[in-house]
Amino acid sequence: MLEINKLGKSFGTTEVLTSIDLSVRPGELVFVIGPSGSGKSTMLRCCNRLEEPSSGTILLDGEHVTACQGRALDKMRLKIGMVFQGFHLYPHKSVLANVMLAQVKALKRSKADAKTRAIEMLEHVGLAHKAESMPSELSGGQQQRVAIARALALDPKVMLFDEPTSALDPELVGSVLKVMKQLREEGMTMLVVSHEMEFAREAADRVVFMDGGVVVESGPPEEIFGNPQSPRLQSFLSRVN
Ligand code: ATP
Ligand code: MG
Repeated sequence: MLEINKLGKSFGTTEVLTSIDLSVRPGELVFVIGPSGSGKSTMLRCCNRLEEPSSGTILLDGEHVTACQGRALDKMRLKIGMVFQGFHLYPHKSVLANVMLAQVKALKRSKADAKTRAIEMLEHVGLAHKAESMPSELSGGQQQRVAIARALALDPKVMLFDEPTSALDPELVGSVLKVMKQLREEGMTMLVVSHEMEFAREAADRVVFMDGGVVVESGPPEEIFGNPQSPRLQSFLSRVN
């Protein structure tokens, strides 16, 4: 379980997040929506300390992410899988090597074990046949699925997704959402920032609407989309739909 308590973040004198409370229970898919600049990415980045929170606490299965330093932080980060809009694959390494690398370097798995796990995860995202390809030989959707496989190969307790499909051509979005849906069915705990409202309706357990660095409203998708309460959410939905 991921628990974000009273999270605050300022850049200099600009407050970007104000007392965010949000938790993701085991096996839950929580979906975050909100206008550009509302702090969605900053919140996700605080979860694995790519950004240093200014205040508040973050716990993963009861362990303080926010208190970890040095080696303990490196270890903690391995439990938090992150997938970004861009895929950040190593361009000069094969797909297989990309999925093996952190397993060997960070988890200290043997190359043989890392390879077995990598192939298993590539099969999972439907790309075992591309193991020997270079990232540049793959479509954007395929590259994103490799990035997902790479994160999953580290056996994370939670997966964070920051607009995983927004850099993709429309016809490639479906293949990535399908993998995410499959992960949800398998019980992966996920916190997803995305503009794919249709996907949110189908797959989210809860939708959180952020604006101006605060959680304005949250609830099941049918309530958030079907019966939005706050004027800010109503206006946001009327703009995106
Ligand atoms: P988008 O939908 O466009 O991705 P977002 O909701 O993810 O937006 P953030 O990227 O979290 O928004 O940014 C929130 C605010 O924090 C913005 O006003 C942004 O300019 C500011 N911000 C983000 N990173 C930094 C930084 N490193 N230094 C200063 N300000 C920053
Ligand atoms: Mg963002």
